[in-house]
Amino acid sequence: MSDIASLTISDMRAGLDSKQFSCSELVKASLDKADSSSGLNCFNLISAENALQEAVQIDALLAQGKTAPLLGIPVGIKDVICTKGVRTTASSKILENFIPPYDATVVRKLKTAGTVSIGKLNMDEFAMGSSNENSAFGPVKNPWNPEYVPGGSSGGSAAAVAAGICPITLGTDTGGSIRQPASFCGIVGLKPTYGRVSRYGVIAYASSLDQVGGFAHNVKDCALVTQAICGQDPNDATSANREVPDFTKVLGQSIKGLRVGLPKEYFVSAVDGEIDAALKKAISVLEGLGAIPVEISLPHTDAAVAVYYILAPAEASSNLARYDGIRYGHRAKGNYDLKTLYAKSRSEGFGREVQRRIMVGAYVLSTGYYDAYYLKAQKVRSLIAKDFQEAFAHKCDVIAAPTAPNAPFKIGAKISDPLQMYLNDIFTIPVNLAGLPGMSVPCGFTSSGLPIGLQLIGKPWDEETLFKTASAYESATDWHTKRPTTAR
Ligand code: GLN
Repeated sequence: MSDIASLTISDMRAGLDSKQFSCSELVKASLDKADSSSGLNCFNLISAENALQEAVQIDALLAQGKTAPLLGIPVGIKDVICTKGVRTTASSKILENFIPPYDATVVRKLKTAGTVSIGKLNMDEFAMGSSNENSAFGPVKNPWNPEYVPGGSSGGSAAAVAAGICPITLGTDTGGSIRQPASFCGIVGLKPTYGRVSRYGVIAYASSLDQVGGFAHNVKDCALVTQAICGQDPNDATSANREVPDFTKVLGQSIKGLRVGLPKEYFVSAVDGEIDAALKKAISVLEGLGAIPVEISLPHTDAAVAVYYILAPAEASSNLARYDGIRYGHRAKGNYDLKTLYAKSRSEGFGREVQRRIMVGAYVLSTGYYDAYYLKAQKVRSLIAKDFQEAFAHKCDVIAAPTAPNAPFKIGAKISDPLQMYLNDIFTIPVNLAGLPGMSVPCGFTSSGLPIGLQLIGKPWDEETLFKTASAYESATDWHTKRPTTAR
């Protein structure tokens, strides 16, 4: 049994159901792979003992002939999502010893579906970053070339799938943190519509933007993990009362006549030439499948990064106020007055990027600046959302664009220049600001062998069209079958 951990869910399902291998063997293979790939630094914590115990229970179910799409499938969970009794750090020193007393709803749902979590995945601290270099526990390396970043903030989640450690993982996407690392690691990742998935038990970064989603080797596996986590939750008032369709039903359907919007603001000279070329090829593949490309305009695109880097830090400064060393989090050693204790605990506990955002956030919310920054940014956010509404109302059914303007970059290349780092999110951020579903699927490689992603953006609640389009594209290409051979 060679490398069963790197199989797709369909192949794992077939192997488990036909007793070719047991869940215990599969989980063991997954843990072994995590171990042999430890140089990638994907995991903050590996829960080997728990996972092997759960596997034994699942083997008992399988022996009774039970089956379900995700029964016995190994998964990994981004370390910003609470897991009962299992340390959850958000890759921050301030939460280094936090053990949640309950499971996030998405974790509960994955357990109910029969998955086995093998551990908590490394990420940028509090999900702030685009390269996974902002983790207090060291950077994650890209399985395609360990000198390069895997993207962020869900870098560990993307790298674990790409490296063949487990077939699906959970991440979160506030400004691109599922789609950009999916693109950088050559896998599929989907951020659902805001409100599709419960945020209960997800450590908050920017609550009006955060959304949980899944990573997978291919579109079908991504549909399966998405299916398992969606749905209204009484514990999250922002989760919506919408029916969750069977996403697998649309896979393989024709996209003949589908109007694919190409935003002219996303096909500009700032986009790396190799990415632009891969995107144009991808669009001609869609056209070959009967889709109709139409040029559209999203005129407020150039304001999106500025708007996001006002609103997200503002929300973060409020959400992170609770980590004061008294109510939550690391407490500085020594005897201090209250104010000094707060300051010392927070300075020791938070990394540089998180501190930067807390300061920016507090600034844009402060008296005298609130109207000029925060309020204005909210207004421009509405304009950005309106751009998409107009395009979907009059011109297209789905939008295709690059996921990121550049390919994966070398570890260290952008870390000292926040603006360069922030510009990575230029094509993913507008989707969060508008609350739309967005997906990245592999669509090629650079000449140096690094993955490129095609982003698909849908109408609110229309994940089905994303899955349908992505599945049609995938059936006409073989990018999703490529696996990295280095960094094992
Ligand atoms: N890279 C973006 C940021 O740094 C997005 C992060 C995210 O989606 N969590 O905020």
